Amino acid sequence: MQTLTSASHQGRKAGSDQPNVSAQYIYSRFQSLGIKTEFQSFEFKSGFFSTALGHNVVALLPCDQTVCGRKIVVTAHYDHLGGTTESFYAGANDNATGTAALLAIAEALMPVSRSADIILLATDAEEKGLYGAKHFVTTIKPEHYALNINLDMLAVNRKNTLYALHDRSSKKLIEQFQKQNHPFSVFATSSQFRLHKKLKNKRINWHKASDHYAFSKKKIPYIYFGMGIDSKHHSKKDTLENMDFAKYQLVVESISDFIVSLARAPLESTN
Ligand SMILES: [Zn+2]
Repeated sequence: MQTLTSASHQGRKAGSDQPNVSAQYIYSRFQSLGIKTEFQSFEFKSGFFSTALGHNVVALLPCDQTVCGRKIVVTAHYDHLGGTTESFYAGANDNATGTAALLAIAEALMPVSRSADIILLATDAEEKGLYGAKHFVTTIKPEHYALNINLDMLAVNRKNTLYALHDRSSKKLIEQFQKQNHPFSVFATSSQFRLHKKLKNKRINWHKASDHYAFSKKKIPYIYFGMGIDSKHHSKKDTLENMDFAKYQLVVESISDFIVSLARAPLESTN
């Protein structure tokens, strides 16, 4: 998180001919774990008449069993609002937290015997309109995917609660997650309305607010994990000093344990 929010990353703005310093960093971190990693570049609309290039970082941890279940894709957007070396949007909570969590999850998954392909996808141009995730889903067969787990904003929390928004078909999985022992409470719902009530804020359309929406539109079940409203969201005050690292670590450990358990036992065999 320190690296991703540092001045040399200049706020991780999407739109460059080559993968930017943040994309290169994530790529090299996956690679150094020995994970097959590639960039996936795509065009996105930037402004009324122009387009720009975005670059997802895609890491694949393949199934190592003879019978493999459907794939799981874990997403976190690494892009943020940009800036200059002197003054930039650090985007610590949004979404260096999710990106760093992806790297931790990669490490946890490495020694695990996997019954399904696990794709760890650091998306670009989420802030511009979920373009990285929207592009990724055009390159896959949705029926080969059992689940998207999306991580966005994991370290600012007024209550001791992790929020999970999921579609109805992920109900059993979220119940499995809730059965784990957590040192915090988990509020899980498939209803935006209930989330609005719980957070006492109706402003955000949580279903559409982050990358899971792109998967949802392709009928891929999803679970979105986040810590709720952040008053410093999209301001220059979204910096490391405002993160609750102790809680962040607990949350990432819980989510990571969950993904490890899903990797071990396939959700549903397809062949
Ligand atoms: Zn975000």
